[in-house]
Amino acid sequence: MDINPNLTVDSSKDLVLALDFGGTKLAAAVVDLGKGEIVSPVIRRKTPVAEGASGTLKAMIACGAKALATFDAPQSVQAVGISFGGPVSNDRKTVLQSNHVADWNGAPLVADISRAFQLPALMDNDGNVAALGEWWFGGHRQLDNLAYVQISTGVGGGFILDRKLYRGSGLAGELGHYLVEPDGPQCSCGRKGCLESVCSGWAIARDGRAALAKNPAGCPTLARLSQNKPEAVTAAMVFGACSALDPACVAIVRGALQKLAVMVVNLITCTDPQVVVLGGGITRSRDIFEQYFIPMVQEQMHPFFSGRCQVKISTLNGDELLLGAALLTQEKSQD
Ligand SMILES: [Zn+2]
Repeated sequence: MDINPNLTVDSSKDLVLALDFGGTKLAAAVVDLGKGEIVSPVIRRKTPVAEGASGTLKAMIACGAKALATFDAPQSVQAVGISFGGPVSNDRKTVLQSNHVADWNGAPLVADISRAFQLPALMDNDGNVAALGEWWFGGHRQLDNLAYVQISTGVGGGFILDRKLYRGSGLAGELGHYLVEPDGPQCSCGRKGCLESVCSGWAIARDGRAALAKNPAGCPTLARLSQNKPEAVTAAMVFGACSALDPACVAIVRGALQKLAVMVVNLITCTDPQVVVLGGGITRSRDIFEQYFIPMVQEQMHPFFSGRCQVKISTLNGDELLLGAALLTQEKSQD
């Protein structure tokens, strides 16, 4: 199975239930691929991490059922597309690992979802799903080569190369674990110095907490936003305090974005994409990305690539995951 080189949407199968299993939240909605729109309310809830994989699966099935129940014509829905926040097996039937809920490992998620909704189901990891959604629905469908970087609680990514989702031998695009600082901070994967350990929602929150605990005078806005409680600091607060020019928060954000820029310029050198798109919750601080990050990439990019590769922030505001999950159902067998 692979994405057809010229992905087309089958109009008889263009209504799809899309499910997004994130590390911190779950989302479900009906997508009309012909219109390129989410056509039901998006049903969201926090991932019930403490209830493990079985509790999370149950919660997602309830979200999906609610999305179908609030859609005018649930009987017209032809398939289920699944985005999973972690690596999946090469045949994309089972979960390999979740860094957030341990007992997902080996779970036959596609079979479980297919049984629950009595519909065919297809799955991929969230980086690949978001790359697909961004390429097709983010205004880049005419391009042959796109790289996508997702920066939210964790970091992931995906590639469209020659108009196909590129999976390597199955794990291509695990950009969160791109090594940017040997012997750097501890990563969620067990190694040290991965990109995710310096530039992700959890890493930026960790650095904000440390800065506030060490010297509140260096981050007065962060102190106010968190009511002077280091344990309450979030990445969004650190970005807010960076916008307000708290010196410590400007330093944290600039340091994190510098590492991200190193990864992105190397990614451009490796794959020669026409565009690199950055998405995910952290990129909602668009002004900061435009002020700090885009110039960092332009300064460090090899002259060969200047002017031939654009770097953009996604405009889909998170919908790329549900839209991309729905697109998985249009995959066609090569045999
Ligand atoms: Zn890692």
